[in-house]
Amino acid sequence: MPPRPLRPADPLRANRHATRMRGLEFPGARTGVDRILTARGGAVARGNRTGERRMLLRVTERGVYCEAGGFYVDPWMPVDRAVITHAHGDHARWGSRRYLCSREGERVLRTRMGPEANIRGVPYGEPVTVNGVRISLHPAGHILGSAQARIEHRGEVWVVSGDYKTEPDPTCTPFEPVRCHTFVTESTFGLPIYRWAPQAETWAEIRAWWRANREAGRVSILFGYSLGKAQRLLAGVMDGLEGPIYTHGAVETLNREYRESGIALPPTTHVGAAPRGTDWAGALVVAPPSAAGSPWLRRFGPASTAFASGWMRIRGARRRRSLDRGFVVSDHVDWPSLLAAVDATGASRVWVTHGYREPVVRWLREHGLEAHAIASRWEGEAEAEEAPPPDVVDGSANGSADEAASAESVDDALDGGTVADSAPVEGSFSADDGAALDFGAPGEGEP
Ligand SMILES: [Zn+2]
Ligand SMILES: [Zn+2]
Repeated sequence: MPPRPLRPADPLRANRHATRMRGLEFPGARTGVDRILTARGGAVARGNRTGERRMLLRVTERGVYCEAGGFYVDPWMPVDRAVITHAHGDHARWGSRRYLCSREGERVLRTRMGPEANIRGVPYGEPVTVNGVRISLHPAGHILGSAQARIEHRGEVWVVSGDYKTEPDPTCTPFEPVRCHTFVTESTFGLPIYRWAPQAETWAEIRAWWRANREAGRVSILFGYSLGKAQRLLAGVMDGLEGPIYTHGAVETLNREYRESGIALPPTTHVGAAPRGTDWAGALVVAPPSAAGSPWLRRFGPASTAFASGWMRIRGARRRRSLDRGFVVSDHVDWPSLLAAVDATGASRVWVTHGYREPVVRWLREHGLEAHAIASRWEGEAEAEEAPPPDVVDGSANGSADEAASAESVDDALDGGTVADSAPVEGSFSADDGAALDFGAPGEGEP
């Protein structure tokens, strides 16, 4: 059989045509793709030798596993080698022996995992070879350091995108389309009703809400996930501050990480560090969603509450949470961007994970792609996506007791129980290791 081209002619052409007809062509796709192909010396384009469609990854009890390389991507149970797309709790779990992540995400991941964790950060695009399998990480545009894992073995290329968005975000490196044979995509907002408005409109709405509250003598309390969303919100309102900004400890800890990583954020003050008798009226308070309805909020007096989330696209979602306002801000792709991102990879096979898997699978099949709904323990924009650093969970550091009680994700706190099992070990994912170092035989760590 002749080598299979990276972009099989018929189905993909049909798909590209279909997306173009809908005006969904992914902007800038060519540029990113060409850059990667050049950097890779065109090796991808050869396809594999047999022309067979090999399964480079499979789902096991512990997570998505690459048998040839003996590693997992975002495993949900402790394993020997874990490639991590980003530091949210459902993707980066405690207890694995070694972690590989993007250099941009290393600081945040380390905060989450603790100083003992064996973490190696590599620059975006720089390949690491493990047991003959080539791994490289490419920007996913989701939060600081988020990456798509590109996995190549004998000409077969898979990309696991983790969580991603294609909208610009000043707090992280923009999403980069990576060509592959099989693309693993989330489907958090994989329904046609989910379409994000231009961001500038949303930031203007948030500032107008803040201004109106200030004029009415109220404090504005804005809920957003403490890792990623909160910083993006802060960067979004930075150009038109209506007053001082205060933060919940979980948010402030991550603000510090972001600033140390070179991300510009407006000045913020931890609520716990504000002097007694602070008049909160007119201020903006940024806190994790789990603080909603908690005693932590009592100190602020008259307040207007709002939640920034993709779920706010649905009216009932705000009412159910008894919030005054909902702003549609998501760090995940909306429906048109998801389809365009899939298209830009040139993949002929797509694994659809966490979210509205069936509608996305159906759409892709109708447009000539091989698509499968894959069960994973990854989550989209949910409570468990939060990654409170341990010092915030136990309230021992800069958080007060009621702040700790309001820290999100009980699940994450429970996950902390596995830390004791994870003895730090020597060795790391290294560029020159091959099968030589103590990574163990492929398959080690399998149940
Ligand atoms: Zn995430
Ligand atoms: Zn996730």
